[in-house]
Amino acid sequence: KVRVRFAPSPTGGLHLGGVRTVLFNYLFAKKHGGDFVLRIEDTDQTRYVDGAEQYIMDCLKWCGLTPDESPLVGGPFAPYRQSERKPLYREYAERLVENGHAYYAFDTSEELEQKRKDVPNFQYGHAYRHEMRNSLSLPLHEVEKLLHDGTPHVIRIKMPEDETIGFDDMIRGHVTFDSNLVDDKVLLKADGMPTYHLAVVVDDHLMKITHAFRGEEWLPSAPVHILLWKVLGWEAEMPAWAHLPLILKPDGHGKLSKRDGARLGFPVYAMNWQDNKTGELTPGFRELGFLPEAFLNLLAMLGWNDGTDQEIFSLDELIEKFSIDRISKAGAKFDFEKAKWYNAEWIKKSEAESLKLKVWEILKSKGIVIKDEAYLLKVIDLVKERCVLLEDFYQQSAYFFQQPAEYDLNAVKPKWTDAKTDFFNAFISILSSPETFDAAELETRFKALAEEKGLKAGDVMLPFRIMLVGGKFGPHVFDIAKLLGESEAIIRIEKALE
Ligand code: GLU
Repeated sequence: KVRVRFAPSPTGGLHLGGVRTVLFNYLFAKKHGGDFVLRIEDTDQTRYVDGAEQYIMDCLKWCGLTPDESPLVGGPFAPYRQSERKPLYREYAERLVENGHAYYAFDTSEELEQKRKDVPNFQYGHAYRHEMRNSLSLPLHEVEKLLHDGTPHVIRIKMPEDETIGFDDMIRGHVTFDSNLVDDKVLLKADGMPTYHLAVVVDDHLMKITHAFRGEEWLPSAPVHILLWKVLGWEAEMPAWAHLPLILKPDGHGKLSKRDGARLGFPVYAMNWQDNKTGELTPGFRELGFLPEAFLNLLAMLGWNDGTDQEIFSLDELIEKFSIDRISKAGAKFDFEKAKWYNAEWIKKSEAESLKLKVWEILKSKGIVIKDEAYLLKVIDLVKERCVLLEDFYQQSAYFFQQPAEYDLNAVKPKWTDAKTDFFNAFISILSSPETFDAAELETRFKALAEEKGLKAGDVMLPFRIMLVGGKFGPHVFDIAKLLGESEAIIRIEKALE
């Protein structure tokens, strides 16, 4: 059975690349009827950030990418938080020491620092191992004494010399590494906590992960992981790897970073993230007014397409169409204008009913009280195609709920004539007739009246819009008039004519 995992370290908010990793894991799992596991990799206590785990879970919830197993819902391989699994990792590290693939290292941080000063580009590996204090360089009795005395130590992997470490990546094909360039990574720290490298391999094994999608930035760690799978004797069960292409800055120069968002004025996080130490707020797509459907859609297209021109996909369609061989190796440029286009498309295509609560909240936050839900739904349907971000619903629909505070009549005032006043007074009579007209009939009457008064319809159309809306925007003006209702339209015309 297919089993994938998203294994974030709770070190801060989730960058859009992180959510794309979740999405690709999720799509692959669901496509193959498999399980999607959320595992929290919190073994690095120095980088642990309060609130980050909750943020990650809230984010998955907002996106609708629900894990089948997680710290929250549990599962057959619980616990799903590595800090809670601490005791089980030591055994594996010790096993590697016993069979010669890892060793104890007693170097203090001062000693390591000194070495780094003395040797430029120092790498703890075969070239310098023998100069350091570890169980490969020291005589056995000394090692035993150090261990017996409880001297603080770590366990390091022993990278082989002059070997090529390779594996088949589902996206990149065969990838190889020169073992001489990989250092002897720490596997178990002095406090008994595993490092990421040991924990990720042990847990992928114990949790029976079959496929692992992660960002390309993890590729340099792959040789360590591949070697661990091998020396722990689990090579046959190693998951198939897929290192996802980087998400690049809009100009294509380098990886998109958190700072780029602030610099270029768009969010790179899924939701607002507030650093509880610095108080710094990193804006998110959710709060800016993106629909989760649009957010997922645009993320899916960063490095994947279905081979056709189709760009709009629902989550179900993505599950159906997703395939690894359509993921590109090349990095994907992030284009915020395009991201907004996805959102506009999704707003347009969403049912008013599904937008209702969000719009209601936006209007409420601006002091608009909505009493009639059916009316709200009609308003949404009428203006939704003019909204790019959810916030735009305020600008685009406030005038349906409150009279314009100001009229942008300056544009038409200089050309105002008595004939126009006369026209609108006559139009008020049409609006107040006991007979009611639909939008098309209203338009016909309006135009006929203009002609009768010797005016061009165009001369009174814009003033009419401004009277109802307050400005030069909005949908078809007769649709607006109809939805506002005749009596409200009359009130607004009269007010504007004062
Ligand atoms: N804990 C790693 C991270 O923070 C996981 C990388 C992986 O998927 O192996 O992204």
